[in-house]
Amino acid sequence: MAYTINEDCIACGACQPECPVDAISEGDIYVIDPDVCIDCGACADVCPVDAPQPE
Ligand code: SF4
Ligand code: SF4
Repeated sequence: MAYTINEDCIACGACQPECPVDAISEGDIYVIDPDVCIDCGACADVCPVDAPQPE
């Protein structure tokens, strides 16, 4: 299991510093590395548009 960032992402960057395992990469839409994500939900808690979703 890993969170994924959906197309609602506005690339605000709020989630990236919250990730304890540095799984989130910048981009037009931010991306979570599923091999690194530990499914903690911290990114979802700070996202203004609810883009990170558990898969
Ligand atoms: Fe990082 Fe946690 Fe979000 Fe996974 S769920 S990308 S570990 S903040
Ligand atoms: Fe995208 Fe949400 Fe992360 Fe901002 S906090 S970069 S909108 S996923």
